[in-house]
Amino acid sequence: MIGRTSAVVLAGLTGHLVDVEAHIGSSLPGFTIVGLPDTSLSEARDRVRAAIASSGLDWPQRRVTVNLSPASLPKSGASTDLAIAIAVLAASSSVDAHQAGRAAHLGELGLDGRVRPVAGVLPAVSAAVARGIDRVAVPAANAEEARLVPGVQVVPVATLAELARAYGAMHAVATSTTPVALPVRPLALVEDVDLSEVQGQEEARWALEVAAAGGHHLLMSGPPGAGKTMLARRLTTILPDLADEDAVTATGIHSLAGTLDPSEGLLRTPPFEAPHHSASAAAIVGGGSGLARPGAISRAHAGVLFLDEAPEFPARVLQTLRQPLEHGEIVLHRAQGATRYPARFQLVLAANPCPCGQYFGTGERCDCSSIARRRYFGRLSGPLLDRVDLQVTVNPVRGASAEPAEASATVAARVASARARAAARLAGTPWRLNSQVSGAWLRRHTHRDAAQLVWQAIEQGVITARGADRAMRVAWTLADLESAAAPTADHVAQAMTLRSRGGAP
Ligand SMILES: [Zn+2]
Repeated sequence: MIGRTSAVVLAGLTGHLVDVEAHIGSSLPGFTIVGLPDTSLSEARDRVRAAIASSGLDWPQRRVTVNLSPASLPKSGASTDLAIAIAVLAASSSVDAHQAGRAAHLGELGLDGRVRPVAGVLPAVSAAVARGIDRVAVPAANAEEARLVPGVQVVPVATLAELARAYGAMHAVATSTTPVALPVRPLALVEDVDLSEVQGQEEARWALEVAAAGGHHLLMSGPPGAGKTMLARRLTTILPDLADEDAVTATGIHSLAGTLDPSEGLLRTPPFEAPHHSASAAAIVGGGSGLARPGAISRAHAGVLFLDEAPEFPARVLQTLRQPLEHGEIVLHRAQGATRYPARFQLVLAANPCPCGQYFGTGERCDCSSIARRRYFGRLSGPLLDRVDLQVTVNPVRGASAEPAEASATVAARVASARARAAARLAGTPWRLNSQVSGAWLRRHTHRDAAQLVWQAIEQGVITARGADRAMRVAWTLADLESAAAPTADHVAQAMTLRSRGGAP
């Protein structure tokens, strides 16, 4: 007797359909699973056998062999449990083989037969649908998320017994019927914040707007309490909503990371991630045991990654950022193979001006040596800062301003129209934002007269060729914000001031 059904395993965000086949032989009782890595084997066997027994169903008193194919796919976790159990029940004629074979099954089994939620249901269900499967049984706790995928009939399952009854095993009884809820995790909350709450700080607000309009990475340096974090948190409030493709990818990442609130639908607000410098490399970059999980840099995909006190991050973590900054993805190497996750984020770095934080104004309250100050900033390596187009100083505000500050919606409208200008100009190129264009494009399209200041600065050895590219990139964004056709010498001069960290060594 043979029973068949399907499951889905994920490699990064890509779901692969797995054929699950159970065979019941005539030899002595035993239970073998083929196609799972060694460590998962015994655990899956124990869970499946206990869950079937806990559901009042008979375990076949003969040789049971389950094959998961293709065997070459790396599989981890327990999301294939439900499919294995259903295939065994179909092979022993406990459930209807046709119904078992029609749907894909996702879910981990508890020993009591309850179906436990799994990570990554959204990308897994999408993959099943893409392979022509229109019915997917998922853990009850994941049903809302599964329904975000169009064109699929979602079958929520709280217990194995309940599903077995639906497939014709009328005598199946669950020992425990309380559905397993999703683990409560702190979501990457979109706080209700607005730029109007930031008083004063005209220069920093302007830098934030320029960063949003051109997609430029930003470094803010200034003493603690100057408002760097407050500003960074409000960057997503002036960025446009995510377009469909980014929304689907970002939602899939958060599904896998366990940080999705499916009642909100697809993620449309750009995510904001602010890992602490003491967090593990795996938490920031991605990783963990078994198959690598996405980290903060992937959860920030299509949104903002904010590193507060950036020089305090381990050098290894800062170096790892270069790959996603260049390629928009991170490749995590594990014994089972490499896992790729999207990680195209807008980087915002904040730094104190020195280790004690008081090197601003006259600098008299700072007791750091000039070597200590230099070393502190030196931790942000040249190759990393090379990619940060905007570098500004944020100093504490003196006295309250009488003028009410501009609201996010007003700034967001200017950002959107500047982005539209850039996208129209860059149509037919691989780029949509000024931060993405190549040095060659900049040198070809920026008028020589406008860029004169840059060329002089290069000749005088004040800036490098990369520095010149950065200034021209930002100048194009300044032009877009003014609805100008191309940057003028003024724009280039302004762009150069948006990269001088006054006060910092
Ligand atoms: Zn100091």
